[in-house]
Amino acid sequence: MTELDPVAATLDAVHRELAPLDEGELAGYIPPLLLADPSRFGLAVCSPEGRLWSAGDHAEHFSIQSISKVFAFALALADRGLDAVLERVGCEPSGERFNAISLEADTGRPDNPMINAGAIVTCSLVAGDSAAGRFGRILSLMSACAGRDLTVDEGVFAAELETADMNRALGYLMRSAGSLTADVDETLWVYLRQCAVLVTADDLAVMAATLACGGVNPVTGVRTMSSDVARHVLTVMATCGMYDASGEWMLRVGSPAKSGVAGGVITASPATFGLGLYSPLLDAQGNSLRSVRACELLAERFSWHALAVP
Ligand code: GLN
Repeated sequence: MTELDPVAATLDAVHRELAPLDEGELAGYIPPLLLADPSRFGLAVCSPEGRLWSAGDHAEHFSIQSISKVFAFALALADRGLDAVLERVGCEPSGERFNAISLEADTGRPDNPMINAGAIVTCSLVAGDSAAGRFGRILSLMSACAGRDLTVDEGVFAAELETADMNRALGYLMRSAGSLTADVDETLWVYLRQCAVLVTADDLAVMAATLACGGVNPVTGVRTMSSDVARHVLTVMATCGMYDASGEWMLRVGSPAKSGVAGGVITASPATFGLGLYSPLLDAQGNSLRSVRACELLAERFSWHALAVP
């Protein structure tokens, strides 16, 4: 990192500008997330050549939470194909909270794979002969995208299991509607365990860059998914990745993204970059407040909006 490097200089400038911002709230639905240090803020960008730039608390570990939904969806698509997946989970923005009870009236399908209901169905569509087998495949995919072996925060996982009443209710509702056919407890075990996987902003940058490179991890050179699957995943991230703020995100930032309740965000621009961010203070929609602001500033400085005329 040198003073002359414009990417490093911009990341540092954005970090300096936003570090003092202390608005927002820590996620409070499980005790471990309330223990996060609210001042933490890290960002990292990975290029299609596999070069990584980082600033702030980019090596701090936190649970990936809802960002895992992206990778479970990728596996479900790879295992079943787009048509079979779409029969069971939609691809329309819900415009509602991440844990909203929003199922299509006539089919019982959850609106999309990026909200909890849809992600629970997605987990049930990942192939495997047991819950542990399905989770193992999701963990392997996330690890291949990060370029290192990721692990589970067992404390976060235990707390998720203890407080999963809303997700359990969603599971039973979808079973009665016919959109979830697998066992509810087993499916929740997979879903909640994938949420408890530990990552850093550096990991998220490489994972996002893997999606931006059509499924090939630019650091390791390993193909993790087909380019069709990577494109399908990025498309749903573009319309549904930031919960009920997805429309405004697309307007202000303009790149496919996904956030998690522990404060992580990924965003990617095809063949251009993958970005990973971490800051645990959340805005009213449950998205990481500093991370959203940072992406707004970076999108402006690098003119990366997907629909801008080059
Ligand atoms: N584990 C959380 C849940 O299912 C994940 C939600 C999120 O990151 N928004 O409630």
